[in-house]
Amino acid sequence: KLSQRLECVASFLLPGKRLADIGSDHAYLPCYAYLKGVVPFAIAGEVNEGPFLSAKELVNKLGLSDYISVRLGNGLSVVENGEVQQITIAGMGGGLIRSILEKGKTKLNHAERLILQPNVAADNVRRWLYNNHWKLIHEEILEEDKKIYEVLVAEPGKWKVDRENIEKTMMFGPYLLKDKNEAFQKKWQIELEKSEFILANLNNAARSDELARKKNEVFKQIKLIKEVLS
Ligand code: SAM
Repeated sequence: KLSQRLECVASFLLPGKRLADIGSDHAYLPCYAYLKGVVPFAIAGEVNEGPFLSAKELVNKLGLSDYISVRLGNGLSVVENGEVQQITIAGMGGGLIRSILEKGKTKLNHAERLILQPNVAADNVRRWLYNNHWKLIHEEILEEDKKIYEVLVAEPGKWKVDRENIEKTMMFGPYLLKDKNEAFQKKWQIELEKSEFILANLNNAARSDELARKKNEVFKQIKLIKEVLS
């Protein structure tokens, strides 16, 4: 049985299209997607030997080695050009997801859908999508085991964002902002408290230009969160 988080990621897969799951760990997601009959073939990519071996073991145990290719390598380097039509990258920080996409840009030419699940810093991923002509088509936010996760789904295309709303859109997510569900409220309440704590500490620190800049940044963040939560 898959975690609710990975099930949410899997629910956005395009049926019948080949998948690459980057940072696959045990290859739970590709195995599940294949066994459910959603994808005909998947690559499970791993940069670390430990998880790579766990993935291989599970794929062999399930007798799926004809359909799931477990590969050792960094990010999208394990994918040949045109080999897959959809890519999942889940359970990592937004910064790492962004760098995997950036380094593997040339491998994305044939991709029809990206399903990304950043644990933190989803804004980083949204900004990358926006700057690289990927349109966000759906977002989810969910809580599982006291952690809050975001899932972003993107397809090639121009993503139009109002200039004046760009900060807010990137930070909170356009679809999540419309809904503001319980998980969303909870996440941003926690972020608000964190930012207020940081600001209080900055107020006690020695003065400098750098500090003033940082304070201003945190202050703006707090203002934005309060606006969205109100
Ligand atoms: N995707 C799975 C999930 O969501 O449950 C596993 C998440 S696990 C926390 C992150 C995995 O990404 C680790 O197994 C790690 O080895 C792998 N990883 C980290 N950086 C990577 C990279 N640049 N390329 C491929 N895999 C990477």
